[in-house]
Amino acid sequence: MDVVEMLDITEGCAAPQKVLLFSQAEALKAFCADFLSRDKITAWVLERLHPAGAYCSACKNKITDATTLNNFYSLRRCRCKSCNAWFSALKGTALHHAGLDVSDIFLIAVFSEMKIEAKIIADVLKCHADTVKMWQAKFRAVEDGK
Ligand SMILES: [Zn+2]
Repeated sequence: MDVVEMLDITEGCAAPQKVLLFSQAEALKAFCADFLSRDKITAWVLERLHPAGAYCSACKNKITDATTLNNFYSLRRCRCKSCNAWFSALKGTALHHAGLDVSDIFLIAVFSEMKIEAKIIADVLKCHADTVKMWQAKFRAVEDGK
């Protein structure tokens, strides 16, 4: 429903309706990764995955041209100017072909760190609890590897 439609509903009421506060349950029900900045999450995740910057996953050459860099940090396919290999910023990382959006994986990390149950996280992200548990195991492996 867009804003104009919502305004139409309140028309005809004697006094304009307003609500003091929304409920926590409503907020949680509405919540998804779209409420956050996907760009900010992507930028943060890629900074973690590529602390030394952008490199070709095949020939390890540093990416220097603006177009390829832009594609790299937008998670689009990149073509290496040195070896012509196609790759993306997620290639060779746990997030490659993950089946979940980078933002959703980021949220699994945040919610898990907040000790929220896998079942509740799965409900919020509209995925299976086993998927959440699988990612929690991957994150634990990262912690254990420290
Ligand atoms: Zn290359």
